[in-house]
Amino acid sequence: MDDCIQEKSKISEYASETCIFCKIIKGEIPSSKVYEDEKVFAFLDIGPVNKGHTLVIPKEHHETIVDVPDDLLKDVIVVVKKLSKTVKNGVGADGFSVLTNNYEAAGQVVPHAHFHIIPRLNSDGLMHWPQNKYSEGEMDSVKEKIVSKIS
Ligand code: AMP
Ligand code: ZN
Repeated sequence: MDDCIQEKSKISEYASETCIFCKIIKGEIPSSKVYEDEKVFAFLDIGPVNKGHTLVIPKEHHETIVDVPDDLLKDVIVVVKKLSKTVKNGVGADGFSVLTNNYEAAGQVVPHAHFHIIPRLNSDGLMHWPQNKYSEGEMDSVKEKIVSKIS
């Protein structure tokens, strides 16, 4: 058991040593920092959807948002709220989207949990998600599958 814990901590040490966002936090890679406190860091996304696109991350390395301890995640989301307003006002946007990609299937490229704050413009022409439909009764069974996993 101890061996397993040690192995896990070695893996996580390696992950944070090679992680591009951990390197940004440590100042080993330059970034356009917009905010920093004891636990949270925020900087401009290098490939913005719209100008001002900001990433908010916990300083501690965790791969996805479900890996982030609850207390830390609360700190992160409070900063997301605060910066959403300042990013919107700062770049004169009409609105903003907040999103987080988790796991490769969702398009997560950097395996360090992060929230995107994307300033939105009435004129940006971005489309919403494509919407599918449920067949008769399917919504209930899908809901049950989810509810049965809540712990
Ligand atoms: P995701 O697809 O949710 O993992 O998003 C990762 C984001 O990180 C992308 O939008 C990238 O443009 C952004 N990114 C990658 N490297 C850097 C970097 N060095 N500085 C700022 N943003 C970065
Ligand atoms: Zn990291």
